[in-house]
Amino acid sequence: MPANPLAIFRHLEQSNCRECGEKTCLAFAAAVSIGQKNLSACPRLSAAARAVLADEPPQVPASQHGQQHVERLKAELRHIDLRQAAERCGGEYHNGWLTLYILGKPCVTDQNGNLRTDLHLNYWLVSPFLTYIIGSAGMAPSGAWLNFRDLPGGMDRYPHFRRQAEEVMRGLADRQPGLFADLVRIFSAKELPPHFGADISVLLLPLPKLPLLLSYWRADEGIASELHIHFDETAGRNLDIDSIHEICTGMATMFGRLAARHG
Ligand code: SF4
Repeated sequence: MPANPLAIFRHLEQSNCRECGEKTCLAFAAAVSIGQKNLSACPRLSAAARAVLADEPPQVPASQHGQQHVERLKAELRHIDLRQAAERCGGEYHNGWLTLYILGKPCVTDQNGNLRTDLHLNYWLVSPFLTYIIGSAGMAPSGAWLNFRDLPGGMDRYPHFRRQAEEVMRGLADRQPGLFADLVRIFSAKELPPHFGADISVLLLPLPKLPLLLSYWRADEGIASELHIHFDETAGRNLDIDSIHEICTGMATMFGRLAARHG
């Protein structure tokens, strides 16, 4: 069983239904990770998720794992020409500092990976940011949209992406009708003409050449609401699938926290 609660949490329904006796799925994941609860206490865990969890090797704690990974990325960054990287990645270079805009906010790094930004420096942000600078092919977005499962490795590596990111954002949009206006106001999202027959579509730029299209269908006459995230067909060339997954689930969590804090 993974020792990392988040590794368990990812596979849960994340509905906070309390049938396991815990107030939230995250509390349940934490209790399982330290052996206080058994997975079987969650009646909503699918057989597939149970099998995946049983097969997952124990992990080092997320914070430790994340820190080690970020240190490796910083070591790689020292070999990257930041001036060229700025051109390739859609950023700006000035006096040894490379600036990229993340969700409309400047994020600056020097050659050693010392970061400056007004955003919270969470792992989900730092790791994709450095990975993008190091490895992005720098392809200009084409405007052709794909589902996550159609990105290279998307379905194989993250079969629960829908539940982990899209469903979390859909729940938020259902509860917070002003969500999309807030995304435009706070994160420089751009409202687009609705795509795919949705009621609303907005474009987010978590990294300069990584546009995400969020489309939302309101519930209507007994038909449940839906929210889908689409990716430019170049996304898999500009960022690896792990980082794309990290960004989407991280954003879903961040939007949820902001909504809970500020309403
Ligand atoms: S029973 Fe399962 S889905 Fe419900 S709160 Fe507990 S962990 Fe979450």
